[in-house]
Amino acid sequence: TDAVSLAMAPVIHRGKARALLSLHRTAGQPFLPEEVALLVRAARIYDSWEGFAAHFHAVSSRSDEGERLARGLEQIVRQKEPDAMAGCVLDHLFDLLPALYAFTVIRSPRFQYAYIETKKFEVPESFRYMDRQTWAYWVLMKGGEPLYLEGAASRDTAMPVLFRGEPFPPGAVAYLHPLSSGDEQFGIIGVVGREATPFPEVGRRAAGRFIEQVAALLHLALLQKHHERFATLDGLTGLYNRRHFDAELPKELSRSQREGKPLSLLMVDLDHFKKINDTYGHPAGDLVLKEAAHRMQAELRDIDLLCRYGGEEFSAILPGCPPGEAVAVAERIRRSVESLPWGGASVLPAPVTVSVGVASFPRPFGSLLTLLKGADDALYQAKDRGRNRVAASGG
Ligand code: GH3
Ligand code: MG
Ligand code: MG
Repeated sequence: TDAVSLAMAPVIHRGKARALLSLHRTAGQPFLPEEVALLVRAARIYDSWEGFAAHFHAVSSRSDEGERLARGLEQIVRQKEPDAMAGCVLDHLFDLLPALYAFTVIRSPRFQYAYIETKKFEVPESFRYMDRQTWAYWVLMKGGEPLYLEGAASRDTAMPVLFRGEPFPPGAVAYLHPLSSGDEQFGIIGVVGREATPFPEVGRRAAGRFIEQVAALLHLALLQKHHERFATLDGLTGLYNRRHFDAELPKELSRSQREGKPLSLLMVDLDHFKKINDTYGHPAGDLVLKEAAHRMQAELRDIDLLCRYGGEEFSAILPGCPPGEAVAVAERIRRSVESLPWGGASVLPAPVTVSVGVASFPRPFGSLLTLLKGADDALYQAKDRGRNRVAASGG
């Protein structure tokens, strides 16, 4: 207001005046050319400051994004199950992209694992993890790069993203990213949005980085699960193994004790199995073991635990089952194994039979060791009395 002399210089950024830098002096003294030059230089510095500010903003928002990703990964690491991880990923992708729907499909023949998790839509029960005529399948098979499907492409091909009859709007945008680790493709993540709010490139890049890290974690979780599963299973029959039996029997016994319920134990041994091996060969013997396991399992309830105890011996834990019922179950097993034909039409003309020993808790056997011995003794009695029969141990 009191200015007497004024000097001004525009701040020019990309060819346009963005600001005005002005100097005023209260004394009536014109600005010297050197002073004006200084002002112009200052305006230029100001201009590069603006560039710096923009750059700084980009850097800080990127570190924001980094922090968000780190938080997301932290949460995912805390999940133990691959399925829970798959769901957690989708929640975080909704933060990164303006999404309407999202899905994770895990499909790993190597780990014998298949799972689908969806957000904001449901798949019909008939859906079997992957339809061939879909973008998701195509990206999974092709592997490598993610695919960003924009309105026109999805409309023109009319190929569904995940399955026929999906609820996605026509011309939706979709970001499809394969899940891979090393050279294994084990699934795909898809995020679907609407054409009016396409996914910006920065968002897609952030999502891509996130998914790549998640894929490594998921792969580890699958590996872990696979190991756990197979550490307790018998490779030939697919039944639980002896190790699992040893771990579960004490737990089942204390549960029965707590709940005041009985528990019965069956010990099953194939009769003259050596002869089957000797006559028909070891591979035929293996088939017999598999089929016997299958037949026995079919006679048991879901809560019973059938294990391959070792060789041609099996054991079954029957929680809540009193002695009388246990003998009936054993008898059903005996009869099922005895029935022909064995190995379909082609294989054994020989009969396959089992002997079964039954023992029950808490009466007559009040401890783990006496229960096991009771079942073993009963099995020997069954063998002694001529095989292909059931014996119960009376203590
Ligand atoms: P018993 O009626 O007294 O039980 O006679 P057995 O011949 O069944 O009993 P033994 O213990 O003499 O023989 C068990 C046979 O089971 C011997 C072994 O080679 C066979 N066996 C154990 N594990 C396997 C397997 O995984 N596959 C095959 N094919 N045979 C097995
Ligand atoms: Mg034996
Ligand atoms: Mg035997």
